[in-house]
Amino acid sequence: MDLQIRSIKSNLEKVREKVALAALKSGRRPEDVKIVVVSKGQPASILQAAVLAGAGILGENYPEEAVFKMIKMGKQEGVEWHMIGHLQSRKAKIIVENFDLMHSLDSLKLAEKLNRLCKEGGKRLPVLLEFNVGGEESKGGWEAANEEAWLQFLPDIENCLSLSNLDIRGLMTMPPWNENPERTRPYFVKLRKLQDFLKNAFPHNSFSELSMGTSVDFEVATQEGATYIRVGEAILGRRPPKTAN
Ligand SMILES: *Cc1c(COP(=O)(O)O)cnc(C)c1O
Repeated sequence: MDLQIRSIKSNLEKVREKVALAALKSGRRPEDVKIVVVSKGQPASILQAAVLAGAGILGENYPEEAVFKMIKMGKQEGVEWHMIGHLQSRKAKIIVENFDLMHSLDSLKLAEKLNRLCKEGGKRLPVLLEFNVGGEESKGGWEAANEEAWLQFLPDIENCLSLSNLDIRGLMTMPPWNENPERTRPYFVKLRKLQDFLKNAFPHNSFSELSMGTSVDFEVATQEGATYIRVGEAILGRRPPKTAN
């Protein structure tokens, strides 16, 4: 086997083992945690190696970069492409036409645009709602740092739920970066709590998916209820430095 495939396969197996232990430790089933292999900034050859190593979901942040790699790789049977980065609404069509799930739906305006494009294309797009539980300026999502203010975004969420071509499956967050995962744990707990809050407010939707945790903190995220973890460098190795996009 190709050296690159072997190395990715070994990394993927290590992540799976850690996820399984973290899940069992918290009374969860390992198979309920899906691994999104984050491939932004990596060349198509690495993505191809990841697929051959067993990656079933690839996560990308930039629409044009992702489509460039999709075209280069051709049809990949059984592989899902997930959009995990902030989306400028003028690029919404690229997502509707090429992606299987969007983690980073962060405004009603974008939801309405995606819904309209889905309708035109005869499609239904699975999405997660992104919340900013850490309150950082630089992060996307509905402002959710202050629990007292959670009522404020309920009208937006209700409107999103009424869009018939969007399938709202759950919540996503990208907390403030910290190398110590215990520092990040409270943000994962908060997203989980927000999930309960939304379930309670809109009982006809289960909001069952929770997308949280990256290379440094996916075990803690798993313990706190993640159903998607988004792991890049721990599986694919260091990303090449980002160039202008
Ligand atoms: C880059 C990225 C990740 C993965 O980060 P790693 O440190 O490579 O694991 C996860 N989620 C989002 C939104 C990202 O942009």
